[in-house]
Amino acid sequence: MFLPLILLLASPFAFSHSGTDENPNRTLIRISDSPEVKKYLRSHEYDVAGIDWRKGELEVLATPEEIAKLKEQNFNVVYELSQTLLRNPDPEYLNPTKVEEALKRFQATYPDLTQLQSIGKSLEGRDIWAIKISSNPLVSKPAVLFNSMHHAREIMTPEVGIDIIDYLLTRYASDSQVQTWLNSTEVWVIPMFNVDGNNRMWMKDSMWRKNTRNGHGVDLNRNYPGTWNTCNGSSGMTFSQTYRGPSAGSEPETQVMMNFVKNIRPVFNISYHSFSELVLYPYGCKPGKAQQVVESIGKEMGRLLNYKAGTPWELLYNADGGDIDWMFQEMQVIPFVIELNSSSQGGFHPDYKEWRDVTVEKNRVGWQLLLKRMQGPAIVGSVKTKNVVVEVRATSGDLVTEYRVNPDGSYFIILDEGQYNLKFKTSNSVIEQKSVNLAQGNLTLKHLF
Ligand SMILES: [Zn+2]
Repeated sequence: MFLPLILLLASPFAFSHSGTDENPNRTLIRISDSPEVKKYLRSHEYDVAGIDWRKGELEVLATPEEIAKLKEQNFNVVYELSQTLLRNPDPEYLNPTKVEEALKRFQATYPDLTQLQSIGKSLEGRDIWAIKISSNPLVSKPAVLFNSMHHAREIMTPEVGIDIIDYLLTRYASDSQVQTWLNSTEVWVIPMFNVDGNNRMWMKDSMWRKNTRNGHGVDLNRNYPGTWNTCNGSSGMTFSQTYRGPSAGSEPETQVMMNFVKNIRPVFNISYHSFSELVLYPYGCKPGKAQQVVESIGKEMGRLLNYKAGTPWELLYNADGGDIDWMFQEMQVIPFVIELNSSSQGGFHPDYKEWRDVTVEKNRVGWQLLLKRMQGPAIVGSVKTKNVVVEVRATSGDLVTEYRVNPDGSYFIILDEGQYNLKFKTSNSVIEQKSVNLAQGNLTLKHLF
């Protein structure tokens, strides 16, 4: 009498997965990667969870109906009934309340090194918190931003944010390298950006990704202006995992991030995601490429982490409306996405005891590379004239970048080592020309205009 019940529980679609999941019958499948498969998955709104670039396979969360359709297409579908991938998240991972408590504890313990700020409210009215870490938080310095969790189910990402804060604060008194970083740079960390989505992930649906707009949600990382809805790299269907929202920047969370980045003008950013062990940089749409130095720093980061580095369209698929495209194009930030973990480590929900410390420790070389690079080749300075553009050319004459100075007149232009010809200009005149030879460190320029 009990036998049929046991067989039912052991069948592929009956997960002994908690009743909190609104989509309990989804299965993780692996499918051989090809342009045709990607195109099919995109146009049929599949939930592509990750990529295994070592094996050349895509990892997809799919219902039995969706799997049947893939088989009809004769795609090579491999089941992976992993208990770790669709298990419930370990309770040790953070929710919005625990993040807020942790940040308040850091602030209370290190009041001279931190400034804690609610940078705005989510759709449901939750605070989105950012913490500034600096040797003197009252003084303005060139900024670096680390943000986690655009996507609610990517629960390892706030752990990295918290580890960055913990590492810098607990070592400042004794570690001369940390002192160098915090004396010259203000480090901003947003450990949990999509607070509503994460709350829903804990309460209702362990595979929830988007914010909570109208119950269906919007993919916050397809909602930014600039490249919004430009290359079939998002969806107009509300049920889709990559629903871009009704208009560019429609979501309050997106606006909070945009206003914050406009205010602090970071030189670098990392947006932490999971999973797939990747370092991504602009642009999300084929064949968009950023300038050489973005790629060279991204490749170096990939080498240090043993993650694969490239643009989203090179490594995954077209993605439009992403935060790093907007940051790069509009705010001249050098931004990266890091995709933590792999499916063999538990995908979105790795075992906490086994993977939490390993992952955050492994990832230190990534964010530390950027803090070190703040001391590397760059031209730095400040002008009083409004709307100055710095034209940077290689000695060959090739244009490297046209950098618009910040609204306060400051500029911090990261470049590879080498010789450059600079032109400081406004829309109607060239104010100053200079040749510079950039070696290992920053070059600070003085101006009379
Ligand atoms: Zn993500």
